[in-house]
Amino acid sequence: MSRFTRIGLIVVLVTSMGAVVGTQLIAADEADAPQGKATTETGGVPKLLDLGSKSCIPCKKMAPILEELNKDYAGKFDVEFIDVGERENAAKAKQYGIKLIPTQIFFDKDGKELWRHEGFLGKADILGKWKELGYEFGGAELPKIERWEPAKKDARSKDQICYMCDGDIEEKTAVIVKTDKGDVRLCGPHCYFIMYSCLTEDRTGFEKKVSVTDWATGRLLPATEAVYLRGLEEKSGRPWVKAFATREAATAEMKSSGGSIVAWSALQENELSHRCGFCDRSCYSQDVAKVLIDGVHSYGCCAHCAMGVAARTGKDIEVRQPDGLTGEMVVVRTLDGKIASIEPETAVAWYGKKKTADGKWVSAGCFHQGFFRTPENLRKWLEQRPYETGQIITINQSLADKMKLSPQQISKACKIGECAPK
Ligand SMILES: [Zn+2]
Ligand SMILES: [Zn+2]
Repeated sequence: MSRFTRIGLIVVLVTSMGAVVGTQLIAADEADAPQGKATTETGGVPKLLDLGSKSCIPCKKMAPILEELNKDYAGKFDVEFIDVGERENAAKAKQYGIKLIPTQIFFDKDGKELWRHEGFLGKADILGKWKELGYEFGGAELPKIERWEPAKKDARSKDQICYMCDGDIEEKTAVIVKTDKGDVRLCGPHCYFIMYSCLTEDRTGFEKKVSVTDWATGRLLPATEAVYLRGLEEKSGRPWVKAFATREAATAEMKSSGGSIVAWSALQENELSHRCGFCDRSCYSQDVAKVLIDGVHSYGCCAHCAMGVAARTGKDIEVRQPDGLTGEMVVVRTLDGKIASIEPETAVAWYGKKKTADGKWVSAGCFHQGFFRTPENLRKWLEQRPYETGQIITINQSLADKMKLSPQQISKACKIGECAPK
C-alpha cells in the first residue's frame, strides 16, 4: 500500500462515520485488500469478525445478531466486533484490508481467513456459510421454546408444597423444620438432607429443629429419636426412607417392604455421602448427572450444575445427563472451559426460571433444570409440567453461564438464602 492511500484510508474512515446511512465505502484501491489473506488472534476456536461502526444502519442491524450468535455458540466459534469508527481502531481497517463497512470475516481456529462478506449478513446466512465452509456447529437455529406464565394455576396450598423440590408433600413422609421464620415443610427425609447440605448457617445442633412423620401413625417425632427403615426401589435402585417411633414398628414394616433399620446418624451419613461437584448438595446417584473429572467420578445435582463442575475445578469434564423426558443419555465433553462435543448434536437445555417478588427472573433451582436429546422432548416434558417457567438455551450457553462465575459466586451457588430465597 502506498503512503498516500494509507493516509487516505484513515482519513476517510475517521471523517465518514457521521452520517452513514448504508454500507459505507471506505477505500477504493481494491489491490490493497489482502482478501483471503488476513489473519487474526483466536482463542483456539473459529472466529467471526465483524468490522463496522455504531452509526451505519446495516452495522446496527448486525449488532443483535452478533450478540445472539455470541451467546448461542459460545465455545463453538467466537464473535468479535470492531468499531472502526473509533479513532483507536482505524488501523484495524487497514490491517484487515476492508473496503466497506460492515465487513464480516470468517477465520478458522488458527486465525486464517476463510471467507469474507461485505454488507449486512443475517443469522441464518452466517450459520449457512459456516456449514458451507465445513463447520458443523449443530442445531443451526434453536426453536423458540419458552414459558413465562404457568400453563395451569398451582392450586395447592403452601403447606402441600415441598420447600426444596416443589413436589407434593406426602402425609406419611413429611419432614418439618422449625425456623425463626416459621415451619419449613419438606416432602421427605431426602429433601431435608438436600436442604441441610446447602445451609450456610452454623449447623451445630440443627437436627434438634427437625421433626419427621411416623410412617405407622402419621404423628410427628423428633428426627434424632426416630428409627429409620431404608431400602432401595426395585426398578430404579433409588433409596427410600421411612421413619418409625419404635424399633418394633420398623421391624414389622421391614417384613413386608424389606430394607434395613438405621439410626438418624447412620441415615445422615448415608444421605450426605454423594454430593454435587458444583454446589455440594446431597444427591442420589440415580437422580443426577454423572460427571467424570480426570477419570474421577463426581455428580451434578442438575444438568447445569454438572456443567458448573468444569468451572469449579478448572478441568475438562465429561457429563452424562439423562434426558428429562426419556432418560436416554445426553453426553457432553468440555475442553478448556468450552464445549468439545455434544451427543446427540440436537441436544438442548432448559433453563427453569421464576419471577421474584420484585419482578426479576432468576433460576428456579436445580429441580427445574434439564437437558433433552431434542427440542421435541423438551416440548413434551413441558406439556407434562404445567407449572414450569423458563426458556430453552443451548448446552454451550449452559456451560458459558457457569464459566463466567467468580470463585466467590461458585461458593454461594445453590446455597439456601443465596440463590433460592423463598
Ligand atoms: Zn421435596
Ligand atoms: Zn448442584
